[in-house]
Amino acid sequence: MFELTGKTAIITGASRGIGKAIAMKFAQQGANIAFMHIGDGENAARTEKELTALGIKAKGYECDVSDFDAAKALVDEIIAEFGEVHILVNNAGIIRDGLMLSMKESDFDKVISVNLKGTFNMTKSVYQHFMKKRRGRIINISSIVGLNGNAGQANYASAKAGIIGMTKSVAKELASRNVTANAIAPGFIATDMTASMPEKAREAAIATIPMKHAGQVEDIANTALFLASDEAGYITGEVIRVDGGMAM
Ligand code: NAD
Repeated sequence: MFELTGKTAIITGASRGIGKAIAMKFAQQGANIAFMHIGDGENAARTEKELTALGIKAKGYECDVSDFDAAKALVDEIIAEFGEVHILVNNAGIIRDGLMLSMKESDFDKVISVNLKGTFNMTKSVYQHFMKKRRGRIINISSIVGLNGNAGQANYASAKAGIIGMTKSVAKELASRNVTANAIAPGFIATDMTASMPEKAREAAIATIPMKHAGQVEDIANTALFLASDEAGYITGEVIRVDGGMAM
């Protein structure tokens, strides 16, 4: 079940956190991994080593997903080097929180540009490849904040809601080509991103989770593996919450 041997996955933002857990999970199931990061060389080198130790082909690339030309050139390079790409996971994301009253325009633009436009850039870069091969899996990491909104995250919520709209649009465009596009909406997951939150905000967030604890990166990786697998071939345009009940 959930076998990925012989498949290649591109995973953005996989030097650490959720992206790394997805990369490790896919590699354990036999997939080759090309992953991207920005400014995180030390973690990326460690991740590449840990992936390669699993006996698959793995390579990390420093590339800004918000730069269309760079993303496209890298995807072409990966296709040339790995032969074929079967799975794209758009996971790279950032936060620049603040109430709308004090949110700088540059913080809005930056979050949209990495989280939402980055997802567009990467998806567009594999689109034709998937279409021609008549198969492919696109898995976009959204957030429950994209479903429910969140005070202090107008930029991030807009990007994550936009990702859901993009996922469903691409799912409709590519369904007849046997390409699926789905989104995962994580709740509160223990990573560097959430560790950077003020202690009080972290405690307040956890208090709203019916299961009363943060999720682990593996919870998201398990869902991504399912969506990437042959077993999920008839699921497209779906948004799966993985949040301990936080947004129900
Ligand atoms: P993280 O900060 O630990 O890791 C982010 C990764 O993205 C890193 O590898 C970083 O190098 C990469 N990255 C950032 N900007 C990039 C860019 N411009 N180009 C290429 N790579 C870039 O984050 P995380 O907590 O693991 O989150 C991963 C994803 O999950 C994000 O999209 C985030 O919004 C989403 N998410 C996280 C949570 C949570 O609770 N941690 C909840 C909901 C959604």
